[in-house]
Amino acid sequence: KNDNLFVALRAGFPADLDGVAIEADGGLVYRWRDIERATAMIANLLVSLELPTGARIAVHTDKSVEALLLYLATLRAGFVYLPLNNGYQQAELDYFIENAEPDVVVCATRNFPWISKLAFRRGVGHVFTLNDDRSGTLLERAAQQDDRHEPARVGTDEVAAILYTSGTTGRSKGAMLSHGNLLSNARTLQRYWDWRPDDVLVHALPIFHVHGLFVACHGALLNGSRMLWLNRFDPAAVIERLPRATVFMGVPTLYVRLLQDPALTRAACARMRLCISGSAPLLIETFRDWQSRTGLTILERYGMSETAMLTSNPCRPEDGDRIGGTVGRPLPGVALRVVDDAGKDCPAGEVGGVEVRGPNVFKGYWRMPDKTAEEFTADGWFRTGDVGRLDERGYLTIVGRSKDLIISGGYNVYPAEVEGYLNELPGVAESAVIGVPHPDFGEAVVAVVVARSDAGVDGAQLVTQLKSRIAAFKLPKRVFVMAELPRNAMGKVQKNLLRQQHAGVFV
Ligand code: ATP
Ligand code: MG
Repeated sequence: KNDNLFVALRAGFPADLDGVAIEADGGLVYRWRDIERATAMIANLLVSLELPTGARIAVHTDKSVEALLLYLATLRAGFVYLPLNNGYQQAELDYFIENAEPDVVVCATRNFPWISKLAFRRGVGHVFTLNDDRSGTLLERAAQQDDRHEPARVGTDEVAAILYTSGTTGRSKGAMLSHGNLLSNARTLQRYWDWRPDDVLVHALPIFHVHGLFVACHGALLNGSRMLWLNRFDPAAVIERLPRATVFMGVPTLYVRLLQDPALTRAACARMRLCISGSAPLLIETFRDWQSRTGLTILERYGMSETAMLTSNPCRPEDGDRIGGTVGRPLPGVALRVVDDAGKDCPAGEVGGVEVRGPNVFKGYWRMPDKTAEEFTADGWFRTGDVGRLDERGYLTIVGRSKDLIISGGYNVYPAEVEGYLNELPGVAESAVIGVPHPDFGEAVVAVVVARSDAGVDGAQLVTQLKSRIAAFKLPKRVFVMAELPRNAMGKVQKNLLRQQHAGVFV
């Protein structure tokens, strides 16, 4: 028996390999047979390089179907896939190459001069190019290879991919995910989200991250479902494809941007059955606006690089309601608990650290055994670093990250709670609440607010409005109005940047 994830994904392809698997945005069509053959050729190329077992294939390219094929070929050949955010520049890339010691680096031709220099300096053996128009040395070399390839035999615990975390709370860590981790999560989602044979997915997410690479691609491939593929997110292009689609996945900012386009209508979504959101908190307002505009209730789920998906709102009505503001219940097979500082289970409604166990939980951080040991409890639970509460029905609400928790004058302040109240005030589009050093309180609560219109908002007035609603220790001591919040590629607010920016306000 071969536990190679590629073998399991391929088993999901439809019997008719001449059917369309992927429609790319340039109009090019990829049949299932093309995926089978192209991944064989790229896998044969990788094998021909005589790489050591466990070799890492680091990929810093623009999004393209071929980049997905490279991922699948890496699995097929039994090597370790290492996707990198294509926005990363020199200093970042140097860190990843030094840290991960890849044997192969693949990049866009326009970046070849500087990336190859970094890579060769660090002893990388092979640097290939791959562009989003199918040009580049990777495909040129693969074209000379045999189009048959017997998938490498791998065990379920062998590493399939190293996914660097988004670096929201600090330096990115490489999460080692095994073939078994990824397959178990993909199978669980296939059942829980009720994937159907005739499903069609609009794929508009980047593929260097769990959401776009694993959740979206594994979902469609394992189910033999067609993808309508976009190399770049563009609201009009997504809306144009929705009438032929049944499933869409996005980070919250994608939903916000789609809502800004008047072409998003109920009619455009007539065939859609499932809109999934995750990677960052979805504003309740977006959840409601989407419902009234399209008639569809967004399904919010929660996961991370280290674990893939952990919780999800229900898909089928018999599994329960989708409750806005929550991330749903633990997925089948995932154990999840909310604990206090002493590690004891919190009663329903109380806030604590979120810990998880399950076949999807990663093997550890790449070359960080101490960090890995630190994040697991003695009895084997992984500390997610997120803070949340479970309600009586077992639904989880994420209230923030433990690193963002503010301790002001000895009181715990949960940023998400204060943000929730701020966002409800007239004139406020969105907000980020952070703690900054304060001589008397240790930390002081500070809010950064984005105004709904050019008319702006008055910070002092917002605080006055909050006074009757929340305790004084939670009130922002200062409010800054900004044009927008700093976000990374996955739409996550970069609170570390905001903290740096405002570190000197009180000291
Ligand atoms: P780093 O670990 O490097 O600081 P990161 O945690 O942002 O970065 P990822 O693994 O990409 O890196 O993101 C996982 C995190 O995203 C989760 O721990 C959680 O904080 C957040 N997240 C994911 N889905 C949701 C959601 N639906 N609601 C709120 N937060 C979410
Ligand atoms: Mg994290």
